[in-house]
This record gives sequence, C-alpha cells and structure tokens, in this order.
Amino acid sequence: MKKLLLLSLTTATLLATDKTSVIFMIGDGMGPTYTSTYRYYKDDNSTQKMDATVFDSLFIGMNTTYSDNSLITDSAAAATALATGYKTNNGFIGIMDQNTTQKQTVLEYAKENGYLTAMAVTSTLTHATPAAFLSNGHHRDDEAEIAKDYLSLTKSGKLKFDFLMGGGEKYFLEAFSDFNARAKKESLTLYRNDYDFTNIKNYPFIAFTAYDYPAFALDENKENRFRVAKMTNKALSLLDNKDFFLMIESSQIDWCGHLNDIACTMAEMEDFSRSVTLAKAYVDKHPNTLLIVTADHSTGGLAIGDKIDKKDDTISDEIKSRSYIWYKESIQHIDSSSISIAKDLNTSKDINVTFKKQTGITLKNHEYKKLKSTIALNKIKVLWHEVNVIINRHSNTGWTTHGHNAVDVETFAYGKDSEKFKGFMDNTDIAKKIFEVLGRKSKK
Ligand SMILES: [Zn+2]
Repeated sequence: MKKLLLLSLTTATLLATDKTSVIFMIGDGMGPTYTSTYRYYKDDNSTQKMDATVFDSLFIGMNTTYSDNSLITDSAAAATALATGYKTNNGFIGIMDQNTTQKQTVLEYAKENGYLTAMAVTSTLTHATPAAFLSNGHHRDDEAEIAKDYLSLTKSGKLKFDFLMGGGEKYFLEAFSDFNARAKKESLTLYRNDYDFTNIKNYPFIAFTAYDYPAFALDENKENRFRVAKMTNKALSLLDNKDFFLMIESSQIDWCGHLNDIACTMAEMEDFSRSVTLAKAYVDKHPNTLLIVTADHSTGGLAIGDKIDKKDDTISDEIKSRSYIWYKESIQHIDSSSISIAKDLNTSKDINVTFKKQTGITLKNHEYKKLKSTIALNKIKVLWHEVNVIINRHSNTGWTTHGHNAVDVETFAYGKDSEKFKGFMDNTDIAKKIFEVLGRKSKK
C-alpha cells in the first residue's frame, strides 16, 4: 500500500512538470543575410578572430516561406503558416477556406491545454504576425476586426491570452465602443506607460507601448532603444517557472528592410539579438523550455559588399588588395532612422553639416547637389529614399527590392526538443512541431 502511494505521488509530480514551455521568437523580415550582416557589423576589427553571434550559436536549419498563392510571401500568410501549420494566401490571417476544420493556432492550443499564453511585439498588436496567433479569417488590413477576435473567449469562458505587450491601442478603441468597460468585464488591466513595466505584477493585462505604431529602435530615447529585450525580460519574469507559450516578434527589422535603411536594420538586429540572448539564458535555467527563433521571410533583398574602386586615390593600396569590401564604418555612427534624418534635412540650414552630424558621412559634391534638389521637391518619401541611396553607396550595401523576396530563412532552436527542428523544412512544419512539443499527438 505504501509502495503504491509512493508510486502515485511520483506520477503526480511528473505530470505537474511534464509540460514543455515554448518561447517562439520571430524576426520579421530577418533573412539569412541579416544575420550574417549583423555578425560582420558586430565583429571587433582589432582581433583576427570572427566573433560569433547568438544566432550563430543557435542555428539548426532552414525553412521555406512561400505562401499558397505566391512564391513570395507576405507577413500574414507566413505568420499563419508559423502559427497554425497551414498555408494561406498573401494578405490573409488564418485559414480562409471555411471547409477546413483545423483553425486552431499554437497559442490557442496552448491556452486550452493549461499553458499561460503571451505575446510581445514592436508592431501594433493586431499587425499581421501577432494577429495570426490570436485571430482567424480576416484580411490583415482589418485590424479592428482582428482586435475583436482578441477578446473572444475560449470554450471555458476565459481570455485566450494572459498578457500582451505592443502598440496599436487605436484598433481596440475602434473595435469596442467602450473598450475600458469591456476590458474591465474580462478583468483585464490596461497599461499605457510606454516601456515602463515596473507597476505590472499580475495578469491578465495589455501593456500598450504606443497608441499606433511604436518607434524604430534608432529613433527611441536611449533607455528604450532595446525595447524588445525589455519586453522579453519582463515577460519571462512574469512567466518564470510556469508552463507557458510566449511569442515575441521583433517586428521592425522588416520595416527597416522595406526602407532599405541599413543602420535602422542593424539597430533592430541588435535589440533582437539581446532578446534572444535573454531567452537563451532563461532556457539554461529552465531546461523544460524550448526556444525557437526564425523569420517569416526576408525583406529588401539585402546584400553586402562591392568591388573596390581601384582608381580612387583616397583608398590605400592595402585596402585595394582586398578587391571587395563592405564599409561597415560608414554606418556605425548613424544615430537616427533615414526618416528622421530626412525630416531634419528638410528644416536644415546647412545640408552638409546636418548630414555629417546625423550620419558621420561627409557628402560628396554631387550628393550634396542631389539632396538639395530632392529637398526642393518637398516629397519626404523621395528624400528619405535619397538618404538611403547615399548611405548604401558609402557602405557598399545592396538591396534588390523595397518588398520581400523568396529566399529560405534560418531556423534557430535551443533547449528541450530543439532537435525536432533540425535540417530543412517547410514553414508549416515549424507550427506542426510546436503543436507536438505542446503535447498534441501528431495525426498519422
Ligand atoms: Zn513579415
């Protein structure tokens, strides 16, 4: 009898700790050249050795990104694949085919199976990537409709999430005639303290970091520059030792890529790298946790390096002997996004001085003339494009598009069950394997 009791106690203890928590981190637009560019950007030039990044230490495979109706996916279709295991058409959140019975996302599955669930993003909370984890059957542009889904309840009458951190309160205000009252009804606390989370002790809550879109890392004040890392830190402290599914998106890597703004891109990569490092450290302390990191697609067709101009007298013979170069020094002093630089140039009394102050780059005469004539056009988008053209030329950074492209993206994994993600796979397999890790039996 005693022996039997001991056995059942052991089983109970095992059951209580049996779940695997999942930290799923998505670098929006973070194609393979983003992680290699970041490695070279960060490397200490004074040493012979090439320094490895956290991404290098976690690399495990590659995955495809194509959507149901295009080789080149958008964020909505890609996030649907990553969140549900199903491909959909570009623009759509969730499975649009009404005959498909499987519409659950990994987050929803986790909630129904006793996990705490949370998301932290640097877009609006209802933007394509987070939307695919908490809503279904919408076009990505219908952010207010998506917000309504967020407050829909599970079969047991609970919210599907324990907490959310990100921008875009405006869509919740659009969705609900009295959002505060609705939140109160669900015992949901709303915070609007930017990235100051010190008062947050309990959940459920939504912490709005911006009314609309949060700012770029480069345009944030110094204390909020690593805001994905700040959110990761807070989220993991709230979930510490619990069973949870946490999705974190570094949303703006993609936005900097769309702009073809390399300094902006590297600042977002720095923030994301710090966040992944925090998550990795959490897994070291909590071995029953899986960390999975990937991108939804690559943006901009980023490439680095070009031939060295051998006729340029200002370049030393030593450098010329290298044949090809990426001048990372040209972007290391840039302290604002190209959008902010363009705004400053628009009101500047001395274009040369303003450009030098913001970027560290001395304009060549023809660049000065081009900027001057562009400012005269009074079209801010044309101006920020021209700012990027100059910076990209000085650094030998190349871009093929202002949109997305079709290259495969990397898979990074660490901790419990990470070997499941090894090798080459489709993006839908990532969701399928996360379902498995969360306890769903795979269908034969
Ligand atoms: Zn995307």
